[in-house]
Amino acid sequence: MNILERYTAMDYGPAPEARNEADAWIAGRDLGKTLFIGGQWHAAASGKTFDVLEPSSGKLLAKVADAGDADVEAAVAAARKALPKWAASSGYQRAKVLYAIGRAMQRHQRLFAVVESIDNGKPIRESRDIDVPLAIRHFLHHAGWAQALDREFPDHKPAGVVGQIIPWNFPLLMLAWKIAPALAAGCTVVLKPAEFTPLTAILFAEICERAGVPKGVVNILPGGPGAGAAIVNHPGVDKIAFTGSSEVGKIIRKATAGTGKKLSLELGGKSAFIVFEDADLDSAVEGLVDGIWFNQGQVCCAGSRLLVQEGIADAFIAKVKTRMSRLRVGSPLDKNTDIGPLVDATQLDRVRGLVAEGARQGAECWQPDFALPSSGYFYLPTLATGVSPANILAQEEVFGPVLATMTFRTTEEAIELANNTRYGLAASVWSENLNIALHAAPQLKAGVVWVNGTNMFDAACGFGGYRESGFGREGGREGMNESLTEALPLGLVIRPAGATPRDAEPAETGGGSIDRTAKLFIGGKQARPDSNYSYAVLDKKGRAVGEAGLGNRKDIRDAVSAARACKAWPEATAYNRSQVLYFLAENLSIRADEFAARLVALTGASGKAARAEVDLSIERLFGFAGMADKFEGRVHQPPARAVTLALHEPVGVLAVVAPDDAPLLGFISLIAPAMAMGNTIVAVPSQKYPLLATDLYQVIEASDVPPGAINIVTGKAAELAGVLAKHDDVDGLWIIADTETCKAAEADSIGNLKRVWTAKGHTLDWHAEQFSGDYFLRRAIEVKNVWVPYGD
Ligand code: NAD
Repeated sequence: MNILERYTAMDYGPAPEARNEADAWIAGRDLGKTLFIGGQWHAAASGKTFDVLEPSSGKLLAKVADAGDADVEAAVAAARKALPKWAASSGYQRAKVLYAIGRAMQRHQRLFAVVESIDNGKPIRESRDIDVPLAIRHFLHHAGWAQALDREFPDHKPAGVVGQIIPWNFPLLMLAWKIAPALAAGCTVVLKPAEFTPLTAILFAEICERAGVPKGVVNILPGGPGAGAAIVNHPGVDKIAFTGSSEVGKIIRKATAGTGKKLSLELGGKSAFIVFEDADLDSAVEGLVDGIWFNQGQVCCAGSRLLVQEGIADAFIAKVKTRMSRLRVGSPLDKNTDIGPLVDATQLDRVRGLVAEGARQGAECWQPDFALPSSGYFYLPTLATGVSPANILAQEEVFGPVLATMTFRTTEEAIELANNTRYGLAASVWSENLNIALHAAPQLKAGVVWVNGTNMFDAACGFGGYRESGFGREGGREGMNESLTEALPLGLVIRPAGATPRDAEPAETGGGSIDRTAKLFIGGKQARPDSNYSYAVLDKKGRAVGEAGLGNRKDIRDAVSAARACKAWPEATAYNRSQVLYFLAENLSIRADEFAARLVALTGASGKAARAEVDLSIERLFGFAGMADKFEGRVHQPPARAVTLALHEPVGVLAVVAPDDAPLLGFISLIAPAMAMGNTIVAVPSQKYPLLATDLYQVIEASDVPPGAINIVTGKAAELAGVLAKHDDVDGLWIIADTETCKAAEADSIGNLKRVWTAKGHTLDWHAEQFSGDYFLRRAIEVKNVWVPYGD
């Protein structure tokens, strides 16, 4: 080719990154001895190894020790042994260790990048400019949190030994997201990298040795799903932090139910990339390249669903196709490569299978016309058009370079389409009109929204999902919470609730000492229970003092529908919600004597104690009314030219199963913070003393609470808790009940991965000051990070 031809073609020449250092590191290591336990290198107790293949060639790269149960046992023991000293070390000491890790990684930055690209197949441009610098930033950022911990998180303790299980798509970055906050918090860790990509984790363990991480604080166990499961099920592990598929996330949710282990799940996604007609189309095309073809589309938050406004759809798709034709698919070590191989042959088969099925279901799948390398797990970038919302390519996470396209007409339709997924990890919104973008962002059910951008991450900004994308956040203040615990003022172990008296009898009205039968409260109205049964409410001496409706599955369904349909409450201004909560407090205070008398009659409490419970309930309502417009988000200023708005959003439909002890105060202490943050409530009050809640109906009716904002279903608490746990339209469940009921609620919550909070089978001291603070406020919100870039 002469100069003129070269100039005309504007083609890239090869620009390979040298791999000799990385090859020398691999060759020089005894990879059969790669379990890092208690600061020592070990072979697997079983002597087993597994093969690590190079995705760009399919050739054997290394044989790595394969951790089994005995190795998990040893690693957890090492982490437990190291915990007391590490947890008791000063924040400054831990900060210095984190800082030393970050600095040591910086010194080996290029080696990390090359090993990562060889092992995972991602283009060197990405590992060099994104994965590795972000991983380093995570350690340096969290050094600061370690030192600030006592001041910023008073009354918190390290969660303990953390079992961390990560996927193969960002091997080093996911490791950093897990290990940095855990070490900052004073936890020790046992981390299992994914079986396809263990190499940078092994290199990281070497860095820990050099950076002076005390022995046993970080333990690294390459291995497969069996080792992962052994970590999850080990009783010596206090917290599980998992990143991976929603399928395995659900298995882990079930396995940890009732064990008291803290859990965070960062799972899959099917994120929308929304292009409005006033968007800068060329920028949007570049954003899309990053959104779906970054890391071959093997990205949890990949913008894999393109939603484009109808008027510009044809022009935009034409631009996308032109751009796709210029993408360079090839060696991950070539600095000009845009798309490398997929991680493994199984992943390649999966992507091929999903595209074939998508086409069978009517999608038109287009690929640019260029040849792929002859070996390795390469797959052409693929654009699917004519995709119906039910098509497998619109619903399933492909985890490959495949973009499904749909069109929309109005903003409302765009939001509806975007939210038509069981996931909720991320979304991108493209419009030159900031009003439109910031109007859409809060309505998108996703943990992260990028305005005119995509795939922006930073250690200071939380990342994590809604719905089946999991729960918990990584990064930022909210991420730190995941590695910390707060002691609760636990009381007695709760015994399973007995039968409801006369539950098989048709309801009686009037007569004897029974003054009336309380109904349920659904959609702002008092409603008869579907069963038409009621049960006797007994006082301390066993005499019937009233009756309450025996709610069932159908009543819960109605209550959840009413809560879901109530838009007035979540959309109300915080000021407005605060006013309504003040009204509730005011109206309760007018009837304080009556409520105190009811408490005395039912629970046998002294007049003084009953009055104190009522007064504190009013004080709590007042307090949370005041917090409704104060427990707000933050603005982050990440290194990118962007501001990140960390917005506090309600969890959604929040179900509350309230306690028997302190039946008024417990009920109010749970529902007031939940309502203050804009959640709509389905509450199951104390089974034993439901009348304290049913007496509230008139207070609620007199206080301008919109219909459906609070719904109350009385009855058998454990049974109703079970129905709520299984209900896929309930977003969160807080439950005070016996251990078995709490365990079942956690295990049954996997349908939609709702956020479940329990007091682990104990009563709580509801008078504790802790419950006037932000303990429940923090659990009543999701943090959504909206990235808004600025500049040209
Ligand atoms: P995966 O769930 O198959 O595996 C993830 C990890 O879990 C691996 O280390 C694996 O060995 C381990 N594992 C598998 N079965 C297990 C079990 N029963 N018990 C314990 N551990 C087990 O996922 P993957 O294919 O490696 O990764 C792709 C998935 O990860 C995608 O769904 C992607 O969206 C998700 N992901 C999410 C995020 C996020 O932050 N939300 C980030 C990256 C990847």
